[in-house]
Amino acid sequence: MDAVLNPSPAPQSPSPTPIGIRPRLPAWLKVPLPSSSAFTRTRLLLSDLRLHTVCESAKCPNHWECWSRGTATFMIAGDRCTRACGFCAVDTAKPLPLETDEPQRVAEATRRMGLQHVVITAVARDDLEDGGAEHFRKTIEAVRDLNPGIVIEVLVPDFLERSWAIDRVLAAKPEIYNHNVETVRRLTPAVRHRATYDRSLAVLKLAKERAQAPLHTKSGLMLGLGETREEILQALRDLRSARVDIVTLGQYLQPTLRHLPVQAFIPPEVFAELQSESEAMGFLHVASGPLVRSSYHADEFSPSTAQPAR
Ligand code: SF4
Repeated sequence: MDAVLNPSPAPQSPSPTPIGIRPRLPAWLKVPLPSSSAFTRTRLLLSDLRLHTVCESAKCPNHWECWSRGTATFMIAGDRCTRACGFCAVDTAKPLPLETDEPQRVAEATRRMGLQHVVITAVARDDLEDGGAEHFRKTIEAVRDLNPGIVIEVLVPDFLERSWAIDRVLAAKPEIYNHNVETVRRLTPAVRHRATYDRSLAVLKLAKERAQAPLHTKSGLMLGLGETREEILQALRDLRSARVDIVTLGQYLQPTLRHLPVQAFIPPEVFAELQSESEAMGFLHVASGPLVRSSYHADEFSPSTAQPAR
């Protein structure tokens, strides 16, 4: 099948649905709001340590579930991004200076939460010479010092493909280096206008080649932006060619009416088919489902269980 993945078709033009009203959310994307004291504990801890999370900033639909499990994805280097990707809810604005004690605060939060696997991401800081790579290095080192034995996963920007900036992050030896291609080649200019598909593949390849220690690489795509099945499979093949080990596939959800509209809601059975096809391509770990996000249940993959592709 090479049609646009569109089992719940978005309205055609002229549209029977008024402009600006999203198609009805299917049942499989409705998440219950738990009443959990664990959620409140996580919220208070993060606010006490003045930390940002992508869970809140990107309006992640799993916010309640993950925080109730006592996990969160830290977002360092501020909450103002220098890019303005069409899918992303993080604010675009002139960033503030880096906070030098932030690495320590992330380390302390990791300790207090008792995390065995931490995911650290950042806004794109194209205003900084190294894109924030040194801040990543310091944060990884602070987290490891205070939490020996922890698995550290970084979800990094493309650092404009500067290999020396990638080296700075790798110098701290994260176990997992994640950089999302986000969408298929054809849609990248509309979805991430300041990035390119090839640059993202190159960054993943560079990280693998330049790592001084075994490194699992990871990437992910959002579905429902109008891509075809063949385009998704090609993107997965491209990631395998870049020797990426782990892949995530999830449903794109429009965070506000200013962001790109959802073109299709992909049913769970299509995600299950893509999971099987990805596994058959040789990825070590695949997470594919409507609510899957880059960091969703990230701790379900343990780097000690499988050698990364060389
Ligand atoms: S999936 Fe990731 S970003 Fe979303 S709430 Fe969970 S940890 Fe946060």
